[in-house]
Amino acid sequence: MSRFLNDRYQSLDAYVPGEQPRVKVLKLNTNESPYPAGPKTVEAVCNATRAEGLNRYCDPDAKALKEALANNYGVKSTNIFTSNGSDDILNFAFMAFADEGVMFPEISYGFYPVFAELHHLDFERVPLCDDWTIDPDDYIARNKMVVIANPNAPTGREMAQADIARICESNPNNLVLIDEAYVDFGAKSAIPLIGRYDNLLVVQTFSKSRSLAGARLGFALGSEAIIADLEKIKFSTNPYNVNTITAAAGVAAIAEQDYYDEKCRLIVEARDYTVDKMKNLGFDVVPSSTNFIFARHETIDGKRLYEILKARNIVIRHFNDEKIAQYNRITIGTLEEMETFIEELTRVVLEETR
Ligand SMILES: *Cc1c(COP(=O)(O)O)cnc(C)c1O
Repeated sequence: MSRFLNDRYQSLDAYVPGEQPRVKVLKLNTNESPYPAGPKTVEAVCNATRAEGLNRYCDPDAKALKEALANNYGVKSTNIFTSNGSDDILNFAFMAFADEGVMFPEISYGFYPVFAELHHLDFERVPLCDDWTIDPDDYIARNKMVVIANPNAPTGREMAQADIARICESNPNNLVLIDEAYVDFGAKSAIPLIGRYDNLLVVQTFSKSRSLAGARLGFALGSEAIIADLEKIKFSTNPYNVNTITAAAGVAAIAEQDYYDEKCRLIVEARDYTVDKMKNLGFDVVPSSTNFIFARHETIDGKRLYEILKARNIVIRHFNDEKIAQYNRITIGTLEEMETFIEELTRVVLEETR
């Protein structure tokens, strides 16, 4: 730390992203898609650099991208905000809408408490139920901003749309942010509710189901007034938050949605395979609506399992938080990758339980 850093940032605990190893490993730790971006998406990226050039600034309104998203989701362009990854939108929302405080599940995306601390907000972390579900009643009529990842991470569990509607309805004077990073793997989106609740903001990303984690593209859907507020913050920080290349990738990805739907289907198949095999190996596996699974072994310590696998070039995600320290989060790769994972895991379990 330099001696110049403002006092208010000195105790900030920054978010720690999952490892990005440079050597070849079986990488099942940061919930990316194992599949490359679609052929038309890649072509659009190449064309964008040629046709539009990188010497000019990108469109600060990201019009083409917003139109494509608006058509895809059946809303107006003015109901859509786009940004450099969805983390950026979360940051803006915590910055803009939480003066009365903010609440979110105790076990959830690690960035929520970081943003709350960054913006010096009062925040409440609400414990989950014993089966790792979120109890919607905890969020009824609380008069502060509500943030819920649905499906939740790292647990993978889903909340019913009717419960999200109840939460919106009972907190009319506060923003309800539903983070749908994993919704395309089989959960039900809250997007149809945005016409009914002007306090609802639904945040999604191209990072997981659309194979574009490296391109950094997130978007949000909400009432025109909320979107206008986000635009105000954006134009006060970085008007060019979605670059030319990424915007082109986004438009093309929406146009080849079939490609990504098929990949999601393959991932769900590989997930079901993995869950089955892990249960047979003595794992307690939390039901997942996502592209990862959250599991603990009946006897093997969570951290130990993570370390043993890492030594064998398989990287999964372990969290030190003591409530979930016995668990690991395993990203679903291709079926082939998951077969390799299960082979190695079978050996580890045999050795550790002998
Ligand atoms: C991955 C993830 C995000 C962030 O995605 P980016 O768009 O890559 O910034 C947001 N929320 C949750 C719950 C995630 O798991």
